[in-house]
Order: sequence, then C-alpha cells, then structure tokens
Amino acid sequence: MPPIIELKNVSFTYPHGEGKPESPPAVDNVSLSVEPGEFVAVLGHNGSGKSTLAKLFNAILTPTSGDVLIDGMNTRDESRLFDIRKTAGMVFQNPDNQIVATVVEEDVAFAPENMGLPSKEIRRRVDEALAAVGMSAFKRHAPHLLSGGQKQRIAIAGVLAMQPRAIVMDEPTAMLDPMGRAEVMRTILRLNRENGMTVVLITHHMDEAAQAGRVIVMNHGRMLLDGAPAEIFSQVDELRACSLAPPQTVALLDRLNRDLNAGLPLTALSVEQCADVIYHYLKG
Ligand code: ADP
Ligand code: MG
Repeated sequence: MPPIIELKNVSFTYPHGEGKPESPPAVDNVSLSVEPGEFVAVLGHNGSGKSTLAKLFNAILTPTSGDVLIDGMNTRDESRLFDIRKTAGMVFQNPDNQIVATVVEEDVAFAPENMGLPSKEIRRRVDEALAAVGMSAFKRHAPHLLSGGQKQRIAIAGVLAMQPRAIVMDEPTAMLDPMGRAEVMRTILRLNRENGMTVVLITHHMDEAAQAGRVIVMNHGRMLLDGAPAEIFSQVDELRACSLAPPQTVALLDRLNRDLNAGLPLTALSVEQCADVIYHYLKG
C-alpha cells in the first residue's frame, strides 16, 4: 500500500508580483511520507511554510518542482482532483468560513450530497461523523449559535463525512479559547487512536504537538527536524534557532542543566514526568 501522503523533493515558490524580486521558495525541497494511522504534527514559526505545505497536500497548490502523491495519486493530475480532496480532507483555522448550512446535520451532509450519494448513505455518514466528534446531540442546532470548539468539531465532522483516509488541519485551534482548544484536541486524538484516522496537525502550540506520534519542524520552507516528540523537544537549541520555545517542562530541565550542571534528560513532556525527573535529581 502506498503512503497516504508522499512528497518527493517538493518545492513551491509563489509567483512574484510585477516588478518585484522573486521571493525565496515557501517550501524548499521537502521529502516525506505519512503512513496510514500516523498522527503527525507540523510545527514552525510564522512564515515557515506550514500552510503552503498543507495546500500542497490537498492540491490547492501544485509544486513548482517535485511531486506530491496522495494515496498514490499525483496532485498534478487534474482528473484525480476530486479523489485527492476526498482522500486528504482539509480543516482550516476559522470554523466560520467552513460552515455552509444553517442546521448542523445539513452542514455535515453537504459534501456527501455533492458526492451524489444515496440519501440513506448520507444519513448514515452524517450520524457517524457527528458521533465521532461527540456532537450528535446538536444535529438540529444552528451552527452559528455553537461555541468555537463545537463549530470546529462540526467542520471536522463535515470532512469525516467524505470518509477521507487522512485529515489535514491547518491550525484548527488557533481561533479557539482554551476550552475549545482542549475539546478539539480530544476529538483529534480520539479519531486517531480509536478510529485509526491518519492526522496531520499544523500547529504552533508545543503542547498540542507533544501529543502527536511524530513531529516535523519547518524553518524557512525546509523540513528541519522530523522525529518522535521527546526526541524533537529535547533539541532545545535547534528549536530556539527557529524561534520556537521548547515546552515549559523541557525549558525548566534545560535551565537546571545550564545553571546547576544537573545533567538531566530533556525528554519530559508532561508535568508529571518533569516532577519525577527533578525528584530523582534532588534525592540524589
Ligand atoms: P506559515 O503557515 O508557516 O505561517 P506560509 O506557508 O503561510 O507559512 O508562508 C510561507 C511563505 O510564503 C511566507 O514567506 C509567506 O509570506 C509566503 N506566502 C504565503 N502565502 C503567499 C501568497 N499567497 N503569495 C505570496 N507569498 C505568500
Ligand atoms: Mg499558516
């Protein structure tokens, strides 16, 4: 089986305006594969190329050079555009821009209706998608009256109703309050762990990325780091060099190492793990 998402030496440069100098590539020679069932977080400061990467995954943009294959389909192949977009569904930052209907269940039914599915199948998919995001009780509600977190879960359900193989989310929690962020993160984790959904989560929140199985760090359009969260977040200097603050737990341990020469491992991603490391250090 091919990877769900595969990039082969992909670069993308935005066309430059009249009389303006050509800008550097927004995505610069990136190669990567995402396998079924993976949960990949993509981190990077503003302008590092994350959104451009997401748009390349979904054939909103096609590479200036190199190839993007979605479940083996090349995003340059316009005849496969529809299949590509329903294989790698996209969720964006602002839930208000993604909701199209005035009733929740009609909104979630939008894509399967456009796919021309029989009404019984649409009903089944809508119910399943709403259950998967924990929003079944709201199916007859008006989306605009829901909280930001609930709206974003409806947007996710709308993508799930297409039965994608992967879901790509570009900072889906950026506009949400802490409660909304937490509920969207819980939903994403459940989709990945319980339903086996392949997830690519673009975020600038370290705590969100720490929950993924794999973290990719983008810097100036390049893929700088790629590995397990504990491995990535222990590279404090590399993270700081691309304007990313390490998680607070790692930052604390790093400071103890620098100030007290404590020699602590920098792999603690939770407060509990961090407290444990410090306890053992103090105990001697
Ligand atoms: P991120 O999502 O990590 O903030 P982007 O992919 O949006 O990064 O941007 C990467 C680079 O491409 C930045 O330098 C940005 O200014 C540039 N860029 C993004 N969108 C456009 C566009 N529509 N036209 C020209 N340049 C763009
Ligand atoms: Mg962006």
